[in-house]
Amino acid sequence: MSWWQRLKKVFSIKRIDDDFWYSLEEILIEGDVGVDYAIRLVEEIKGLKPSSSEEAKGILREKLKELLNYDFPSWLLSPSGNLEVLLLVGVNGSGKTTSVAKLGKWLSDRGASVMLAACDTFRAAAIEQLEVWGKRLNLRVVRSEPGSDSGAVLYDALSSAKSRGADYLLVDTAGRLHTKHNLMEELKKLGRIAEKSLGYSAKGLLVLDATTGQNALRQAEVFSRNVSLGGVILAKYDSMARGGIVIALKSELNLPVFFVGTGERESDLEIFSPDAFLDRLLS
Ligand code: GDP
Repeated sequence: MSWWQRLKKVFSIKRIDDDFWYSLEEILIEGDVGVDYAIRLVEEIKGLKPSSSEEAKGILREKLKELLNYDFPSWLLSPSGNLEVLLLVGVNGSGKTTSVAKLGKWLSDRGASVMLAACDTFRAAAIEQLEVWGKRLNLRVVRSEPGSDSGAVLYDALSSAKSRGADYLLVDTAGRLHTKHNLMEELKKLGRIAEKSLGYSAKGLLVLDATTGQNALRQAEVFSRNVSLGGVILAKYDSMARGGIVIALKSELNLPVFFVGTGERESDLEIFSPDAFLDRLLS
């Protein structure tokens, strides 16, 4: 039985007793919700003394809706007139390069002019992959040779995007260096280069693999300590075995999920809807 089915099964218990509360807390923790928040959530629902499991479910839904509600950022909805630089960060394999391409398509489908920068210069495959996506989606890609300085690539990409009057520059960044410290320094350097060139900050979007649960949350902690993040693109949402990561990102790190990746194709990107998530979780 999947985690989703087991959560629903907890609410099929009609009588509310200690077993019910224990099972609810346990399944939330098992689903990556985060121990402290799961305990608090259950205590809060219990404190409202629901008379049936159905009523408890309704309260849970309200509480999670309150937690997950967010304003979808206006800087993604329409071009501001200034070049918007989005740094997509995340570990290798999370779905970063694919998400750059998907977001490029999503924005250009809405009429924006979009350019891509291949700043993961450590992996030849990442540069090639971005180039293939660029050709397929008809998006200009600024790149350099593997092993070259990512800062120089970003610098070129920024001047090219400015001179062409692009609305968005989406930057694919490295996901692994010799040490975590080096990786974070590399990302900070890209942020500084963008800020110096633009006179305002680039926005960080963290790409996480939804299938990695607690591990994704730990990555989010490290990245959010080092890079200024607007929100998250949760890739591989279509294969997500447990849903708690969405809740933990918001409750522990105050990071909203903006988009979810729902497959490997360029069109498989959707705005994250808390209501649709809660339907999947609780209906
Ligand atoms: P990167 O190393 O972080 O740049 O990761 P990639 O973009 O290369 O993606 C790693 C793998 O995950 C590839 O096989 C992608 O096709 C796959 N992938 C990326 N996003 C999604 C998604 O939303 N759903 C599914 N099912 N697969 C995805």
